[in-house]
Amino acid sequence: MGTILTSYGDAGYDHEGYPAQILDDGSTTAIHSDQTRARMVGLVIAACSCGWTGTTRYATTAAIDVDAEKLAMQEWEHEHARPVLIRDQGAKWDQLRMMLQLLGTAHRDRLTDAAPRGLTVHADRDPRYQLDTTLSLLSRATELAHELRDIAEADSAVTSSPMTDQRRRDERQC
Ligand SMILES: [Zn+2]
Repeated sequence: MGTILTSYGDAGYDHEGYPAQILDDGSTTAIHSDQTRARMVGLVIAACSCGWTGTTRYATTAAIDVDAEKLAMQEWEHEHARPVLIRDQGAKWDQLRMMLQLLGTAHRDRLTDAAPRGLTVHADRDPRYQLDTTLSLLSRATELAHELRDIAEADSAVTSSPMTDQRRRDERQC
């Protein structure tokens, strides 16, 4: 019943948005049952599986008010999901660049003290240790690059489709 933005790779699944109904004690629910329906005060609020909730309360005219729910989901998408996912993506790029820089520096400056600890390739030390560290950093960087590659793939699938199809392809109802 929630909505997921699929153009941000696996990270999108951490943020499933849904319109939540406000109950008479101020709590919220996404469940429509006889019990909850009797306690709904006629307002919906945007909510996310990560715990985020919107700030606007949208008045409803029916138990399921498509227009009010749509407004709440627009708030979720533009005030929360997209900004958070774009920030996460930027952080992943930064992390990848930092790892590659660290590897480059360590191997370039292998005979100086400038190289980061552990990676410095000293002739008198066991090369296996330095190579293990290098391999572990490389595999983490590879994983991250694959993740970002998947996001870029999903993103181009969305943006290359006509505008009318964009929303449908970018969002998945669960
Ligand atoms: Zn969220």
